[in-house]
Formats: sequence, C-alpha cells, structure tokens
Amino acid sequence: MRAARLHAVGDLRLSDEPVPVPGPGESLVRVTAIGICGSDLHWWDQGGIGDAALDHPLVLGHEAAGVIGDGPRRGQRVAIDPAIPDGTCRPCREGYRNLCLHMRFAGHGTQDGAMREFMTWPDEFLHPLPDEVSDADGAVLEPLGVAIHAFDLGHMRLGAPVVVVGAGPIGLLLVQLLQVAGAGPVTVFEPLPHRRAAAAALGVAVADPAEADDPAALRALVGEGAAVTFEIAGSSEAVQLAMAATWAGGRVVLGGIPDDDTTTFRAAVARRKGLTIAMVRRMNEVYPRAIALAAGQEVDLTSLVTDRYPLEDAATAFSNAARRTGLKVIIEPAP
Ligand SMILES: [Zn+2]
Repeated sequence: MRAARLHAVGDLRLSDEPVPVPGPGESLVRVTAIGICGSDLHWWDQGGIGDAALDHPLVLGHEAAGVIGDGPRRGQRVAIDPAIPDGTCRPCREGYRNLCLHMRFAGHGTQDGAMREFMTWPDEFLHPLPDEVSDADGAVLEPLGVAIHAFDLGHMRLGAPVVVVGAGPIGLLLVQLLQVAGAGPVTVFEPLPHRRAAAAALGVAVADPAEADDPAALRALVGEGAAVTFEIAGSSEAVQLAMAATWAGGRVVLGGIPDDDTTTFRAAVARRKGLTIAMVRRMNEVYPRAIALAAGQEVDLTSLVTDRYPLEDAATAFSNAARRTGLKVIIEPAP
C-alpha cells in the first residue's frame, strides 16, 4: 500500500509499505478521505507542534473516514476518532479523556496517522457513518468535534452576543453550532476575505480585525462586547482581540495553536473585566453528537470542502493548504 510520510520540514514522500495487520480489538480500515488540519501544517512547515518534534518519518492525518476491510464489521463505513486514551489515568477516570496522560493520537509523535491507503485502529474508536454523511464529511467530523468541545467550554447563554475570532473550518463550524443552539448576534473577525465571505454566507456579521484596532472602532462593531468569545486563530493578536471584544464577567475560549508555543496578552484587559479563560484541548467524547448533527443536516460540512487531491498529490495538497486559499483540503486515496 502507499503511505505519505513526512521525513523533514516540507519533505513529504510517498512510500510503498506492507498493509498493517490489526491487533486484538482492532480492525483494518481502508482510508477513503483525510482532511488536512492546521496542526498537520505545523508538523509540515515547522517539523513539530508545541513541545512535540518530528524524530522519525511520520504519517500525518487525524481527520479521516474509511471502510472497514476485515472482521465482523467488514464493509461498514466509519469515521475514525483519532484519539486513543488509556481510559485508566486520573483525567480519563474523571471524564476528561481528551486530557489523557498517555494519549495515542493519529499523526502525532510516534503514532502514524491516516494519510495512507490502510490503517489499523481500535474498534471502539471507529464510529459507523450513516448514509447521509459522505466520506469527506466523515473526515470533517473531527474538526466539528473540536468545535463542539470548544462550544461546550463557552457556556453559551441563550440569546446573548458571541464573538468568534478566526473563520477557518473550526471557526465556521462553531458559528453553525452557535446558530443551532440559539446564540444572540454573532460577530466573526477574520483577515482573509474568502473566509470572511464564508462566515457572512452563514448570516452573521463579519469584520476584518484591522477594522477593530482602537476601542471606539471595536465598540462600533460589538457594542458592549460578547458574553463569550471564541479565539480559533492562534496568534496573540487574535487573543488580544478576543479579550477586548468580551464584556466584563464574560468567558474567552482559546482554541488557536500559536506558531511559537507562546501566547501573550495585556493582563489589565483580562484582569479588569474578570474574564474566565478556557483552553481547548482537542475534544472529549463528542463523535456521536457530531454524527447526529451532520446526519440531521443541522450542520453543513460539505460546503467546507474546497479542495480534493489523490494521495499521490499529498505534497501539493499540503503546499496549497499552507497558502490558505480555500477552507478544508481533503486527500482521497483511490479505492
Ligand atoms: Zn488516560
């Protein structure tokens, strides 16, 4: 089978490898769709993410769907939950499986991901896909799951104003969740015009962050501010804007991943407003909710997929994804 391995920064190569053999409790999955995530791009253009660094050729990819190729579930279409927690450590026992101390995560560290024709994966993390959800949409369930987890951390109040900073795929999915849940007015800040347009198409107010560079300009856009603000961008400027756009006593949910593993903000802004800050770490047990929302067409995933490439063009797919000219880039290994 073919696999796309990252050997060094910007050096993604296709290799021919044996089809993996499932262990106990695992199935063989023929991968049909893989999304490229901002975190994959961190590996690709920086050789790591946060404190994790590339130390051997790694198969990236953690947003994936496929078809089970062996055993009693053979032929079943599934979404692949990329996170394998140990289930026994303290955070796992307390219900924070996303914070597992011994997490294995697809396409991270020593765990190969999904950018290959076949992978083996524990059965309990292979979620059956209903017919209404396509394979590409099945891959986008992973960022939807992150958006649901971020939403949960926001403690949204019915009808209260919300700000979202960053209109990449997760920000756009979050906007849809806020609308489903009954948020008040939503304002989205995004510097890239095509992403702003995608947010505007959802029916929310949009602005370029450059339009909010002084307090009066920001007030003209968001009034007194938002009860909860979601930052899904990854820069300190975005974090500062998120805090400035939140009203006193509000919550700020930080979901972006900074390039240099550092976030800075003016303490006085957050302190004087007594803001509550929540950090997003991947997602918890949200795949069943993500699948239900997609199957019920309450959230549209299909319109997020702007680019599709076969596996042999994975390197091109990465360089195009890094230019951020579209929204979600999907790689589809040929059947
Ligand atoms: Zn654990």
